[in-house]
Amino acid sequence: MSDKQHIAETLFDELGFRMSFAAEQIVFQGQGDLQSLILFENKRFGRMLMLDGATQVTTADEFIYSEMMSHVPILAHGRCEDVLIIGGGDCLIAEEVLKHRAVRRCVQVEIDKAVLDFAKEYFIDWNRPFFDDKRIDSVIADGMHFVADAKNHGRFDVIIVDSTDPQGPGAVLFSREFYENAKLCLKPGGLMVTQNGVPFFQPDELVGTMSIWRNLFTDPYAYVAAIPTYVGGHMTMGFATSDKELRAVPLSTLEQRFAAAKLSTRYYTPEVHKAAFALPRFIRDLVVKALDRS
Ligand code: SAM
Repeated sequence: MSDKQHIAETLFDELGFRMSFAAEQIVFQGQGDLQSLILFENKRFGRMLMLDGATQVTTADEFIYSEMMSHVPILAHGRCEDVLIIGGGDCLIAEEVLKHRAVRRCVQVEIDKAVLDFAKEYFIDWNRPFFDDKRIDSVIADGMHFVADAKNHGRFDVIIVDSTDPQGPGAVLFSREFYENAKLCLKPGGLMVTQNGVPFFQPDELVGTMSIWRNLFTDPYAYVAAIPTYVGGHMTMGFATSDKELRAVPLSTLEQRFAAAKLSTRYYTPEVHKAAFALPRFIRDLVVKALDRS
């Protein structure tokens, strides 16, 4: 084992599983207002941010998660102008959203200013547009409170819940109250996507969300992406809408929208978009069972 300090991912300790990353250099380590933060350089994953022992983002593979959490909902919607991001403190999803010229407003509600300050200082080469683009409205608040105040900030075509896992301040973002209020923030025909964990390790996170969405949305479902640092196989993203068309957009339409948006991507393609909803059986069974209205 190298003599370098190893930083442990402790998110799955209760499952008897822990992994660690050799730190070539620790850039920052400390306690923010709400979470412990560590930022370090790793030979394979580049710059890595952990909050409360859970990997949040790495510069080597963030493109996968950021592209799939932004382009899937926006291209499925087709006429997206107003986007709300809950969480997203590294500002990397917002950076992808801003690539869509048709988006005229992107509100980001991040609870921990320390993460945002961090992102500006240490990830600026990746998220610079967030700090330069006038379409961004950056709000420091609890996403729970923000969505409860729908009448005061207008409605959105797409809501992206880029939260931490359901621990610490992120727990409320998996609650019925949050989802009910978030739904009220959607325009008719809008949709919400959520970070919903790796079902091989965190099945309850997915089942819990789908069980709430069963009676909230007409067409709740999930899609997947393979993200190296979110270990345990496919990561799921919740897909909530009451417009059944949005999950079934034909490939040809996605191809037209993708071409028109002139996006440069490294993971997202229209084919990957369609395929992402073909859930591996064990994940589909979790979703179908949680959505069973009988
Ligand atoms: N991609 C990461 C993942 O999948 O775990 C998430 C990245 S982003 C850093 C998660 C952000 O959610 C953090 O910056 C955290 O501060 C923020 N957050 C947690 N709870 C929140 C809440 N209740 N309201 C708003 N932001 C919250």
